[in-house]
Amino acid sequence: MATTSEKSTELLNATAELTVAGRKVRLEMPVSAGPVRLAELLPLFRSMTDAFVEVSVANARAEGLEVSCKKGCGACCRQLVPIAEIEARRLREVVEALPEPRKSTILARFEDARQRLARAGLLEKLRQPRQFRDEEVIPFGMDYFQQGIACPFLEEESCSIYTERPLACREYLVVTPAEHCAAPTVESVTCVKLVLRTARAVRGLNAEHSEHGSPWVALILALEWADAHPDQSSPQPGPAWVREAFSRLTGHEVPEIGT
Ligand code: SF4
Repeated sequence: MATTSEKSTELLNATAELTVAGRKVRLEMPVSAGPVRLAELLPLFRSMTDAFVEVSVANARAEGLEVSCKKGCGACCRQLVPIAEIEARRLREVVEALPEPRKSTILARFEDARQRLARAGLLEKLRQPRQFRDEEVIPFGMDYFQQGIACPFLEEESCSIYTERPLACREYLVVTPAEHCAAPTVESVTCVKLVLRTARAVRGLNAEHSEHGSPWVALILALEWADAHPDQSSPQPGPAWVREAFSRLTGHEVPEIGT
């Protein structure tokens, strides 16, 4: 991987060239030169995710596989979606900015979901992601899916916040028949094999630098989590964030970004 940058008054125009799974990926990233909070890099993480998903889909096609996800199929939007702390706060902002009566409708859906989870005995556990053992995640996810709780942003089986959707949603694409997603199991649903897992890397990076250290936040609890956890994280220069993100993503030390 090579990284370079051009300095402007406040932004660095960083570029990264990677070869992943035999394919070249070039990313151009405006990054703040000065200290910023991790949340400000969310647009960059979205671009990275979309670029790596594109390569992953191209690889799947080269193997004769077709993505079966399409507009109007929102079966996966009833799954437990893990998001980073910065994404939870962003969703709070997105909902806050909605006009009425849509905002109240979305808030009511979040509240209804919370009540259903409480009745199912899943709410308290979901509020404590740090207490999940690795082997508990899949069975809990199955229990969650059984509740049939649609994401509050799902409308007419499509995502109503498509450009704002979390990284995990961007990465979730399947190559098995869409009807299998109505009752997914590890055996019946196969996802596109990701060349790099940006959502997971960002969650890890976020947790490491957060005073709360939550490995993930459930999308369905994003608003209550964001309300209880204002961003008090420490800023650091944009290029330092980018280096850390790429190091986590690739598992290799990334050289300092030139300025
Ligand atoms: S944010 Fe959008 S894509 Fe993600 S689960 Fe909700 S409706 Fe589906």
